[in-house]
Amino acid sequence: MNYDMPVYRPPSEASSLILQVTLGCSHNGCTFCGMYKGKQFHIKSWQEIKIKIETCGRQPYGINRVFLADGDALAVDTGTLLKTLNLLYKTFPNLERVGIYAGPKDIQAKSKDELVELGKAGLKIFYLGIESGSDKILKAVNKGVNSEQMIAAGKKIMDSGLQLSATIILGLGGKDLWQEHARETAAVVSAVNPTYLGALTLMVVPDTPLYKKVQRGDFEVPNSSEILKEIKLLLTNVNLSNCTFRSNHASNYLPLRGILNQDRDKLVELIENALEQPDKVPLRPEYFRGL
Ligand code: SF4
Repeated sequence: MNYDMPVYRPPSEASSLILQVTLGCSHNGCTFCGMYKGKQFHIKSWQEIKIKIETCGRQPYGINRVFLADGDALAVDTGTLLKTLNLLYKTFPNLERVGIYAGPKDIQAKSKDELVELGKAGLKIFYLGIESGSDKILKAVNKGVNSEQMIAAGKKIMDSGLQLSATIILGLGGKDLWQEHARETAAVVSAVNPTYLGALTLMVVPDTPLYKKVQRGDFEVPNSSEILKEIKLLLTNVNLSNCTFRSNHASNYLPLRGILNQDRDKLVELIENALEQPDKVPLRPEYFRGL
């Protein structure tokens, strides 16, 4: 398939066919994000999407997962998404699930009935960047929504019987707001209770507004020990049921995996060991970290 580069997808969609139903991100304003800076936001027409699917259908390989990109693919109108899903499942008989990037405003723009209908048509997993639960931090990074709106969006997906994979960014409050970031992110995540929770660790991307802030000395990036203290504080404050938690993304210093809350004590113990006995629990070196 020919792509309008660059293309991004969540780590768990590494083996999925990526289908771009939008280009770029309509918000395109988060201070830490450089993903779609050079792309003009565009929603593809049904004709464009249909031709892409039909072209892929002629390829001699089996497809069992599809991921709808770019940034906020849920901005596509529900009718076009339903036609897209129907054609995907018809074209790929082994297709098991379709996933999508979903911004909080796009989720709120759909009714619960629309989300349920999309789920029935096979749109099974929604990826939402919560980033932080702190209103101060959400405003500072220009996320475009506050914590209340983020909770409402996440809960709407869960209440519609769909799977939600939420992402948070460790370090996003810098050295000043790490405690607020940990506690308030724990509160938002607990209110949503997503199916999956993924933690990334902040990496400052050149030419972003955050990068300039760091250069000016207005934002200090926490070091590895400070990040571990932050995730420990966050984990000790979450109240989740049956949420699969992972921090195995390449940006993280310490890979963690477990079900929350049931595995919390084990995860906290591992973090404490990494802090107290770094020779026994090695962290990912800075030069191996990546986005
Ligand atoms: S983080 Fe997401 S919403 Fe923010 S600019 Fe990047 S793609 Fe858009």
